Amino acid sequence: MNVDRQTIAAGLRSVGLDTGNIVLLHSSLASFGHVDGGADAVVDAFLDVLGESGTLLVPVFGALGIITEVVRNRPNAVCSVHPRAAAAAIGGDAEALCRDHWKAETAHGTDTPYMRLYEKNGFICLLGVDQDRSTFLHSVEAMLRLPYLANTAEFTFDSPEGELTKSWKFFPGPHRNFIGIEHRLRDAGIIQTTRIGNAVVRLMPARELYDDLVHAGRTAPDLFLCDNPNCNDCVTQRSGLRTHRLAAESFTLTAAASLAGRYVPEVIENCHRAGIQHVELDAMEGHTLAYTPPEQVAATVDELQRGGIAVTGLRLPVVTPDAPCWEADDYPVSRISMPLCADAARYAEMAAAGGRQLSFYNTEQSSSVAAGIMKEMQAQGHTPGFVFDAAAFARCDEKPFLKSSKAKLRQYIDQLIVEDVTWDGTATALAAGNAEIKEMISTLRCVSFAGPVVLGAGNRAVGNLQTAADRFMQLLETM
Ligand SMILES: [Zn+2]
Repeated sequence: MNVDRQTIAAGLRSVGLDTGNIVLLHSSLASFGHVDGGADAVVDAFLDVLGESGTLLVPVFGALGIITEVVRNRPNAVCSVHPRAAAAAIGGDAEALCRDHWKAETAHGTDTPYMRLYEKNGFICLLGVDQDRSTFLHSVEAMLRLPYLANTAEFTFDSPEGELTKSWKFFPGPHRNFIGIEHRLRDAGIIQTTRIGNAVVRLMPARELYDDLVHAGRTAPDLFLCDNPNCNDCVTQRSGLRTHRLAAESFTLTAAASLAGRYVPEVIENCHRAGIQHVELDAMEGHTLAYTPPEQVAATVDELQRGGIAVTGLRLPVVTPDAPCWEADDYPVSRISMPLCADAARYAEMAAAGGRQLSFYNTEQSSSVAAGIMKEMQAQGHTPGFVFDAAAFARCDEKPFLKSSKAKLRQYIDQLIVEDVTWDGTATALAAGNAEIKEMISTLRCVSFAGPVVLGAGNRAVGNLQTAADRFMQLLETM
């Protein structure tokens, strides 16, 4: 098919481009097949359609196509000044779009050529390239201030005000799934499409595109990330989003170490992937830490800390009167949890003598028995905490949420174990069993509960840390 300046202009008019419009162009000359007159004919076709009053805008950073080079080198082109995100423009609004670009707080947000395009009701044209090339999507990310965006390094560059050194906020990072945005925009009727020669041409009004994606991004900030579990870029960016999200909660989301992994490096990596920064030490390398020598526990705590993971406490799996945590002077963990037992007061005394903070978790007790033991200890002057294990109550055939409020157990709670079972004791995904997990989380949130909420080891029966954390976050978003 023979493509020339006139057929290109006609094609652009057919997707809705008109005199006086402003258009941000991303292009590939090769996509047309052969063009009479080459890149110059393409640029002239745009200028024919836009007229004197319209403006053609192109980003001039990264790998430039030949069409972009032609725009930039036209004698009437205006170039914005920016070491990482410069643009060039020809036409009535060229100066207004490009001025003072370097002064903006971000490279693609407010006071940049790209957001000015939005303010002036411009268009984005993808000519033979896909959404992956759309610079304007960086504007959406920057305006949403997505937590995975980072500051640029400091750049020294020549500006009209002399040599300056500056960095820009909310700059896009490595991989994103911009291609995945295409179907969403198409479904919303935001993309007009035609073919010119072999090239697929897409035209989108910046305002409609921006409004749709900003609205979506407010509730789903991972909108632009891919879900490939082997894409380290997006795994890291997702984890950053989750850490940011959890910082808004009063509680500390914590993983049982044995749910996170068998060895310390595995625990560290899996916690980071899940966006979790705290673990409770219940086991390491398949062994409980109850009888592990204190110096070895200290080495484990150190190694986790160097990997960015804090230890919230040590969990003893059984009642252990001769465990080193009761005796050692400088035991490396100050918070201990252990099974609730008939002689709990004895342990409360031992813990107080050693300066440890002690909490009891329920195992085979009903909530009224558990509340009775806690109340009695309180009467004796002890102040241990209570680790609410909702799944263990469900295994005792209780409705944990309803019963615990009747038993007045909540006042003692300083930790919640999040795992779920049916009444016959079968492990399930969170909030798929009878442990009333969602109700418990909601109640604790209502009183700005500040203790650890622990994704328990029981989740191993139905998945791993990642699936438990994903499910927990889903629950949180539905409350
Ligand atoms: Zn990715």
